[in-house]
Amino acid sequence: MGIPVWKQGRTSGEVTGLEDCMGCARCIVSCPTDALAIQDVRNLFRPALRQNASHLLKREPNGSIPRGEIVYRPPVERKHDWQEVAQPFSQQALQLQADRCLDCGVPGCRNACPLGNFIPDWLAATARGDWRQAAELVHATSPLPEVCGTICPQHRLCESGCTRGRLEGAVHIGMVEKSIANQALEAGWRMHEPIRRNSHSAAVIGAGPAGLSCAERLNRAGMSVIVYDRSDKIGGLLQSAVPKFKLDKRLLQRRQAILEQVGVRFSLNTSIDAEMLADLLEKHDAVFLGLGAQKSRSVDLPGKDLPGVEQAIGWLHETNRGARASMSGKHVLVLGGGDSAMDCARSAIRLGAKVSIAYRGPEEHLRASPLETDLAREEGVEFYFDHTPLECTGSGAVCGVRFKTPRGNPHISADSIILAMGQQASPPSWLSGFGIATESDGRIRADERGRTTHPSIWAGGDNTHGPDLAVMAMAAGRKAAEDILAGINGFETMRRQA
Ligand code: SF4
Repeated sequence: MGIPVWKQGRTSGEVTGLEDCMGCARCIVSCPTDALAIQDVRNLFRPALRQNASHLLKREPNGSIPRGEIVYRPPVERKHDWQEVAQPFSQQALQLQADRCLDCGVPGCRNACPLGNFIPDWLAATARGDWRQAAELVHATSPLPEVCGTICPQHRLCESGCTRGRLEGAVHIGMVEKSIANQALEAGWRMHEPIRRNSHSAAVIGAGPAGLSCAERLNRAGMSVIVYDRSDKIGGLLQSAVPKFKLDKRLLQRRQAILEQVGVRFSLNTSIDAEMLADLLEKHDAVFLGLGAQKSRSVDLPGKDLPGVEQAIGWLHETNRGARASMSGKHVLVLGGGDSAMDCARSAIRLGAKVSIAYRGPEEHLRASPLETDLAREEGVEFYFDHTPLECTGSGAVCGVRFKTPRGNPHISADSIILAMGQQASPPSWLSGFGIATESDGRIRADERGRTTHPSIWAGGDNTHGPDLAVMAMAAGRKAAEDILAGINGFETMRRQA
């Protein structure tokens, strides 16, 4: 932390031995957890006195507030509706939870967040009740904080880096982030329009998390941005594949309105073809591709083409748009072990079906987050582990799946089979006509700045790194935007100097 030392140790400027300590106690007063204490000669006869940061700074020890438990609506209630299942904290409880932040010298939470969010700063603003400043800070690095706060797996991102997590439970970062965005937006807070527009423009293809992130960053820097999407709604898979009980779609509608207010234009219901891309390259300084990875991974499973066998992404899309009839009395069998499998299973429960998930490995290898698995189980989903599917059975229509297990080859009957075995990128083949190279698995080739093999086309998100978290796509979209801006700013500087 830059604390000066005697320089008598092995390494100049670092404390490597007792002889380096000058007894200044700066390390003690900098320690937020009161883990360090100093004993000085004036208190030699008071061994019970612990001179830690709280004692020296005369502050309340920062350890009295426990991590609050998130309350989920009872399964008997929530499995009959499509509302979000987690109950929000009260305002007062939220401020108390935010106040648990120790403001560590090196913020592990920020380092673990793919967006590098200013987490300790917005936690401090929330603890003070300054929602306006918290909203400014939370939007400084994230285009969709209310979405990230809701669907990020915080236990393996920001909250995994929280110092208190190692002591007595991490700060509720996601819950606070979501609440900041919701409270501020409901109270009328809005993002700022760019101070100055410049003459540059960009076209973003795909209104998923990567595209929205890129568009927001470019727009903020003063570029004119238009976002194209073949769907009539923004969000990409957030809109079509994430169930409503995990993400209220009105949040995406609200975010579209906010982005429009600050100048981002949307052209929805618009499919881009080769001719249009050529036109966009003529008109704009940069084109960003955020096409996602929406094609289901092909699996070698006999009987997978029988009626009654569906791919998870298509099944969720139909269900999310309300086009699926009640499944009461039916048995739905989901094959897979990731979050999509849980999403399908929990959606089928809400449609009235009896639902089972069969996964080829043991429970501890499930890719789905433990919370999702617990919620699914509470809602009545039955699990079969170590079940590797051999074939979908049936003639005319599917009637079940035969599995290989350590104990034999059982058959599980079902009326409907959902294959939740992942997605892959599948960009249009005509992109190669623009010199865009792809990898053997279909991903668009791009470097870490999002540069493709075409000088004016950038790409990021699932279409370059494969299916991943929405927050990773947002980070990739922003990185590409930074690179586009660096190129434009460099060009401007050269022009001014010429
Ligand atoms: S974006 Fe995700 S990882 Fe980052 S602070 Fe928010 S919830 Fe945590």
